[in-house]
Amino acid sequence: MSVYDKYKAVIGLECHIQLLTKTKMYSDDIAEYGGMPNTNVSVITLGHPGTLPKVNKRAIEFAVKLGIAMHSDIREENQFARKNYFYADLPKGYQITQDKTPICNGGYVDIKLKDGTEKRINLTRIHMEEDAGKSMHDIDPFESLIDLNRAGTPLLEIVTEPDFTGSEEAYIYLTEVKKLVRYLDICDGNMEEGSLRCDANVSVMLKDAKEYGKKVEVKNMNSFRNVQRAIDFEIKRQIDLLESGEDIAGETRSFNATDGSTFALRSKENANDYRYFPEPDLQPVYVTQEYINSVKAQMPELPSDLFNKFTKEFGLSEYDAYNLTDLKGLALYFNELVSFTKNYKAAANWMMGSIKSYLNENAFTIEQFKIKPKTIADLITLIDEGKISNAAATQKLFPELMLNPTEAPLSIAQRLDIIQSNDTGALQALVEQALAKYPEKITEYKNGKTNLLGLFVGEVMKLGKGKADPKMANQLVKEALEK
Ligand code: ADP
Ligand code: MG
Repeated sequence: MSVYDKYKAVIGLECHIQLLTKTKMYSDDIAEYGGMPNTNVSVITLGHPGTLPKVNKRAIEFAVKLGIAMHSDIREENQFARKNYFYADLPKGYQITQDKTPICNGGYVDIKLKDGTEKRINLTRIHMEEDAGKSMHDIDPFESLIDLNRAGTPLLEIVTEPDFTGSEEAYIYLTEVKKLVRYLDICDGNMEEGSLRCDANVSVMLKDAKEYGKKVEVKNMNSFRNVQRAIDFEIKRQIDLLESGEDIAGETRSFNATDGSTFALRSKENANDYRYFPEPDLQPVYVTQEYINSVKAQMPELPSDLFNKFTKEFGLSEYDAYNLTDLKGLALYFNELVSFTKNYKAAANWMMGSIKSYLNENAFTIEQFKIKPKTIADLITLIDEGKISNAAATQKLFPELMLNPTEAPLSIAQRLDIIQSNDTGALQALVEQALAKYPEKITEYKNGKTNLLGLFVGEVMKLGKGKADPKMANQLVKEALEK
C-alpha cells in the first residue's frame, strides 16, 4: 500500500458563471465580450459620486432559472452587500454582491461517475454579483493595462459543499454545470474565454480521521482539464507535506499550466477583511412564488429530463441518451425527429452516426445543418419499408442529400436508382443464377457447412447490383438450399 492510500481528499468548488445578459448587473452599459477596451464603461460602473446602481431584472431571472434547475431554495427577500477592497480593476473600491442572503440556498447537481454510479454534489449557495475589470500584465513590457469593459458584468457564483473526493468528480461536475447553463441559455460556459471560472478548495485527511484537514484554495485554471490537474497536484503536495511531518498552510495558490504545479499567492492570515455591509443604494429585490412559477413555465426540458425520456420512453441505451443530450441543439433535433418516426433506435443511430460525422467533418454545429428532421425521418421510413437498404442509404443517399438538402429522399433514391427490387420473381431468378454458379458448395452446405449461406447471398446482391433486399435474398437463398 502506498502512503497516498492512507489519505482521502476533500474538495469543494466555487464557480463563477458570466451571464448572457445584454447589459451589466447594475447599469445599462453593454455587457459584451470582445469590444474595444474601455468603451462600455459609464459613471455608474465607475462608481462616481452621485450615481445610483439598479438591479438587472434579466440577471434575477437567470439566477432563478439556475436555482430551479439545480433544485435550490429560492429566497424571497434578496439584499445586496458591498464587499470592500481596493484594486486597480475595481474603480469603485467595492463589489456589489450578496453576503448573508444568497438568492439560492442548497440544491444539488447529480453526476454520473465513470463506473456508472451516480453521485449527488450538494450546493451550499448560489449568489449574484458583479465582475471586476481586467488587468493585463503581459501586453506592454513596462505598464499594466486595464480594460474596464468587464467591470459590472453579471455573475452567478455557485458554491458546492466539500463533496468531491477526487479530481475526476470535479471534472464531471464542471461538464454538467456547463451543459446546464447552456441548456438554460444563461451563460456560454466557455472556460477558455473566462465566462465560466472555477476555484478549487482542496484538503486531505487520514481515512479514519474525524475532522477535515486545512484547505488550500487554488485559482487561475483556464480549462476543466487544468482544474483536474491542479487538484491532483495539490492532493499529492499536501500528502507529501504531511508525510514529511510538516503542516499545511491555509493559503490561496495559483496554478501553473506549463508544469501543472501550484504556487502560493497569499496566506489566509493576511486575508482581506472585506467589511461587508448592506448596499445602501439598492432596495432588496423580492422574488415571489408566482414569479418563480412563471420562470419555471418557460424553462426548456433539461438534460436530465431528456435523458430519462430517451432511456425510459424511447428505450435507448444510456450511452445513446447521454450522447444525444450532451448538446442542447442535438437533443432538440432528435426530439423533433422522433415526432416523425417511432423507430427511435434508427433515429439515434442516424444522429450519432452519419449526421454527427458530417457535422464533425465540416466543423458545423447542428444549428447549421440544413436537413430538416422530417427529411431524416422520411429516409428512415424508406429503409423500414424495405425500399432502400441501409447500406445504400448511408453510402449513397445521405451524401447526395447533403448536396440537395431540400430534395425528398424518395426522389433521390429514384434518381440514384437504388430502390430495392422487392419483386420475388426477379429475385428468385437471381437466386437460381447464384446457386448455379457454385454447385459443389451446395453439397457442402447440405453437409453442414451452413456458413456458406453468406457466399450465396453475397452473389445474389452482386447480381442485383445492390438493389436486392438483403433480408429477402437471405430468406430465398435459404429456402432454395434447404429444398
Ligand atoms: P472560506 O470562508 O474560506 O471562503 P467556505 O467555508 O466559504 O470557506 O468554503 C469555501 C469552499 O471551500 C466551499 O466550496 C466549501 O465546500 C469548501 N471547503 C470548506 N472546507 C473545506 C475543506 N476542509 N476542504 C476542502 N474544501 C473545503
Ligand atoms: Mg466563502
